[in-house]
Amino acid sequence: MNKEANNTWKNVLDYVRERINPQSFNTWFSGSCGVELKEDVLLVEFPNVFQIDWIEEHYYNILEEAVHQLNGNKLRLAFKALRQQGDRPKKKRKRLILSRDGTKLQERYNFESFVVGKNNEFAHAAALAVAEAPGQAYNPLFLYGGVGLGKTHLMQAIGNFVHRQHKKMSVYYTQAENIMTELIEAIQKNQQMTFKRKYRTKDVLLIDDIQFLYGKERLQEEVFHIFNHLYLEGKQVIITSDRPPKEILTLEERLTSRFQGGLVVDLQPPDLETRIAILQKKAESENITLPSSVAYYIASRVKSNIRELEGCLIRLLAVASLSGQEVNDHLAEEVLKDLLGSGSKITKQIILKNVIEEFGFSEAELRGKKRTQKLALARQTSMFLIRTMLNLSLAEIGEFFGGKDHSTVIHAIDKVEGLKKTDIEYLQRLERITNWISG
Ligand code: ADP
Ligand code: MG
Repeated sequence: MNKEANNTWKNVLDYVRERINPQSFNTWFSGSCGVELKEDVLLVEFPNVFQIDWIEEHYYNILEEAVHQLNGNKLRLAFKALRQQGDRPKKKRKRLILSRDGTKLQERYNFESFVVGKNNEFAHAAALAVAEAPGQAYNPLFLYGGVGLGKTHLMQAIGNFVHRQHKKMSVYYTQAENIMTELIEAIQKNQQMTFKRKYRTKDVLLIDDIQFLYGKERLQEEVFHIFNHLYLEGKQVIITSDRPPKEILTLEERLTSRFQGGLVVDLQPPDLETRIAILQKKAESENITLPSSVAYYIASRVKSNIRELEGCLIRLLAVASLSGQEVNDHLAEEVLKDLLGSGSKITKQIILKNVIEEFGFSEAELRGKKRTQKLALARQTSMFLIRTMLNLSLAEIGEFFGGKDHSTVIHAIDKVEGLKKTDIEYLQRLERITNWISG
């Protein structure tokens, strides 16, 4: 172990510890240590690969924030697991969390790991066709569907495939939100040409979560010009969105009228068999034999979001591995009961727990008096969810949150209603929490 590395990691941990609930902190960060610090990359070791899976999925933002606060973005984190899972030998796992410049394709998002079912066979076929002949099959390819249904996976599978098969092509993955950040920066620094050049020189451009452009005219304009340029040059554009193009309005008219060769396909939630197959595949990739009754147990309860489906499995495998227990029905029920609700009643505590999972903070903070912007939003979200899911009176809710006035609760509900209409990202977070709560 390297002292500097471990001290750096300890600072990151201190930052995280203050912001998430103690139980989550202990479950997911325990036993980790910084082992090496080289060229601004801090290598962190975890006892268990499932901790890494979970942290990547749930604590990405807070880690990024921590790194930014402590080291001003210079530091990057790399994770590796100490123990290997299962009995088959396996190459050492090493995963990278990079600062979000959007350029990184994740290797695990490939066609081999993508399970095809009725819900996504058309999207899969289209993606494969595009990957095999970029710029020639469907251009642009527009993939849309609900949260956690595999849009990013499929898009990056195309990117990875092209990267492997057509070595000379430049593939670029980014999120629509990043484009905006870059554009603003380019305007401020008067470097619009550099910005344009960057995007116009790609052979395959992947833009994730384009719904972010909704209501942002100037940005849509810029992006349209990029598309247009690439399209005319025969370069491939792939877009994902959580809604069909016509709901991103201005963009749609132009997209459909301009890009005749384009294809719009949707991803639907998987059926039970596909969900089971996804779990089995995931377990296989972790070298674990998953009893089919356990796969069934999870798959029959998590229906509309594959990320959630995998999340349940990862949590189960983590607990099994950390406690040295066997993965069976009994353990599954034990570990997942609060996550899945298993028919149990929704309570204020369950709601808070899930808000905490999404936003960080502790229960004491949520119910306390402190008011930072982020904390206030998490608190307002909790109030809204308790009101809508449990139908408690305004006074009761105010009371629960440290004796606040009923007008504060009304304000919170209005605030959330407003954000639901104007802020897509917030809406997604809210939907995520609601899905968790209702299983
Ligand atoms: P989206 O971008 O639509 O919100 P993601 O592509 O991030 O969803 O998928 C969420 C998680 O579910 C990822 O870990 C992904 O690998 C997994 N996943 C989604 N669809 C499939 C599939 N058909 N087969 C295997 N894994 C999948
Ligand atoms: Mg996505």
